[in-house]
Amino acid sequence: AKSHGAENYAIFHQTMHLQSLTRMQLEHDLSRAVWQNELRVCYQPIISLADGSLQAFEALVRWQHPTLGLLSPDQFIAIAEDSGLIIPIGAWILREACEQIHKWRNQTHLPLSMHVNLSARQLDQLDLLDSIRGILAETQLDPRGLKLEITETMVFNNLEYAAAMLRQIKGLGIQLSMDDFGTGYASLSYLHQLPVDNLKIDRSFVETIDTSGTESEIIQAVIQLAHSLNIDVVAEGVETVEQANRLKNLGCEYAQGYLFAKPMEPGQIEKVLHKNFASL
Ligand code: C2E
Ligand code: CA
Ligand code: CA
Ligand code: CA
Repeated sequence: AKSHGAENYAIFHQTMHLQSLTRMQLEHDLSRAVWQNELRVCYQPIISLADGSLQAFEALVRWQHPTLGLLSPDQFIAIAEDSGLIIPIGAWILREACEQIHKWRNQTHLPLSMHVNLSARQLDQLDLLDSIRGILAETQLDPRGLKLEITETMVFNNLEYAAAMLRQIKGLGIQLSMDDFGTGYASLSYLHQLPVDNLKIDRSFVETIDTSGTESEIIQAVIQLAHSLNIDVVAEGVETVEQANRLKNLGCEYAQGYLFAKPMEPGQIEKVLHKNFASL
């Protein structure tokens, strides 16, 4: 048993070593990814449950790595955050997404909006406001076409700082969306302190809708709370018709998920700009 333990330890040690090597390699590669043109932004439709119309998109980044292939954000966003690279990368994503939604708003004459994920590091960034202001000016986007997604964990550590920062962002005419709602702490108790326009119910709640009655009661309570604060609700990760119908009956305004559309390249989105998703 003793030698087994030592062996396991050696294997564990090797794996750790490999992991940190890979991490260092990825961090190094990531620092060049933007100017090597390896990052791509995909867009996932957000639709109105009332009439199936297209309302918005969420910008979701991918990395076409030269040797490792297509990497999902879960494989590199944390590295970008820890290394600080999320600052230039986040600015690049925001610029891409703003440019794109400006184009689609002009093409369709619809009040479409773009959700862009903000990371904790970006919220702490001193010149975040200047950076956003600059991107809006550069892309000529009407700020009403932009919604920044924040998470509970980002604001929880320093509620007062976050609330002040968020009010300044809102001062630019941009809207705010609370992402992954329900997965953080004490969400219900401080939602009213934050200038949030929109709330996204996390996929983990939506998943259980068709099986568990208790979960839909939680969702119902969240929707009621949001509405009482004048906040509208997006359900994320909607995969079945039953989930969509239940959410609609509970008063949820919007939905996003594989049932309607996966994240797509801009060229594919252009084919669904006038599509109605109600018949699904
Ligand atoms: P998120 O913000 O919660 O984004 C939603 C994730 O759920 C996306 O994964 C999306 O592809 C996936 N999804 C959408 N509909 C469904 C569905 O019906 N079923 C299932 N199973 N999944 C669905 P993705 O693109 O892999 O992104 C993962 C996470 O990476 C995001 O979670 C977000 O936290 C982060 N992320 C993505 N893009 C960015 C970005 O540009 N900046 C930052 N800071 N984070 C990003
Ligand atoms: Ca998000
Ligand atoms: Ca989310
Ligand atoms: Ca989520």
